[in-house]
Amino acid sequence: MEERYLTCIGCPMGCALTVTMNGNEVVSVTGNTCKRGDDYARKEVTNPTRIVTSTVKVLNGSAETVSVKTKEDIPKGKIFECVKALKGVEVKAPVHIGDVILSNVVDTGVDIVATKDVN
Ligand code: SF4
Repeated sequence: MEERYLTCIGCPMGCALTVTMNGNEVVSVTGNTCKRGDDYARKEVTNPTRIVTSTVKVLNGSAETVSVKTKEDIPKGKIFECVKALKGVEVKAPVHIGDVILSNVVDTGVDIVATKDVN
């Protein structure tokens, strides 16, 4: 049996989690105060994912950049590639919250959307 130690990112309490593994199988999760911690720990040790946030350049807008994020979590291993893919992206103003800036970023099936309005 192997133990892995994580800090839950589900809320500011940051519970210290201990995950007991038997090979690739999760045997138990302890240290969590609520179910979200258990869910987070199981996902983190088997298929870790994250929301990615960044900014992209806006052409002819009231601001030079607009904040964007992945619409859903993407695999942690794709974060670097995702940030790189956003580097050369430029959008024309106006941009509205929820507008798709880039679809299917790095073949994750997840879109990049704007999180701000820029006129
Ligand atoms: S286990 Fe629950 S209470 Fe603890 S940090 Fe995670 S979400 Fe918050």
